[in-house]
Amino acid sequence: MTKILAITNQKGGVGKTTTSINLAASLAAAGRRVLLIDLDPQGNATMGSGVEKSTLTNTVYHTLLGSEKISAVRIIATTGKYDLIPANRDLAGAEIEMVDLNMRETRLKESLKDVQGEYDYILMDCPPALNLLTLNGLCAAHSVIIPMQCEYYALEGLSDLVNTIKKVRSTFNPSLRIEGLLRTMFDPRNILAQQVSDQLQQHFGTKLYQTVIPRNIRLAEAPSFGKPVMYHDKMSKGSLAYQALAKEILEVPA
Ligand code: ATP
Ligand code: MG
Repeated sequence: MTKILAITNQKGGVGKTTTSINLAASLAAAGRRVLLIDLDPQGNATMGSGVEKSTLTNTVYHTLLGSEKISAVRIIATTGKYDLIPANRDLAGAEIEMVDLNMRETRLKESLKDVQGEYDYILMDCPPALNLLTLNGLCAAHSVIIPMQCEYYALEGLSDLVNTIKKVRSTFNPSLRIEGLLRTMFDPRNILAQQVSDQLQQHFGTKLYQTVIPRNIRLAEAPSFGKPVMYHDKMSKGSLAYQALAKEILEVPA
């Protein structure tokens, strides 16, 4: 069965894209068929997958607006061994252009039906906002992975996200659930980070991934080579952490 996961947090710079790319590559390296969908006009997941965003004629924008089938937009991200639905700044206009369209919240879910049977995992890299693009991700998803940095304001933002998930559950997607919370850019020497991590453990218990992603320079460098970190420095701490996360996710029964 296909598992569709939205990687989301409306807070910017928490590691959504890094998680999307490296989880996609780690699941693919474990022999799973993976599709990564870039839902962010910044196109960071596209570039980090080794695809030049400015030269693309078809992107997720064209699928959302209905001018192209998702299968016509799909490309192979050769550096990561997964398939990619790319994005670029065209997508910034989608929100306004979709306002007058029917079923605007479920357009991605509908278009995914064409290809979803071909994959074990579909990952969606959401933008840092609770907007219509993120809503399309949440409506299409079975569950949500929430990357977060263990800092003071992290918990505050989390309640807005949890409320949005509840709203989506009561309207478009009753079975949507939280798959897991992921601690990113973790520095164990930071006392506040430890405290926030303890609080997360208390609040979310088993929903908190045991795998913790450390702050690691190789993870930050890899996108500039258009590669997931495992093909940049396989044995780096960041690479090993994302491989461990993939293993943890693979152990969850479908
Ligand atoms: P946005 O909200 O803008 O989409 P994001 O949540 O997708 O951001 P990323 O782009 O993944 O976050 O990460 C933000 C920055 O931090 C990037 O420069 C990235 O390379 C770096 N980064 C992410 N994770 C790590 C890590 N574990 N160690 C070191 N640097 C990291
Ligand atoms: Mg991002």
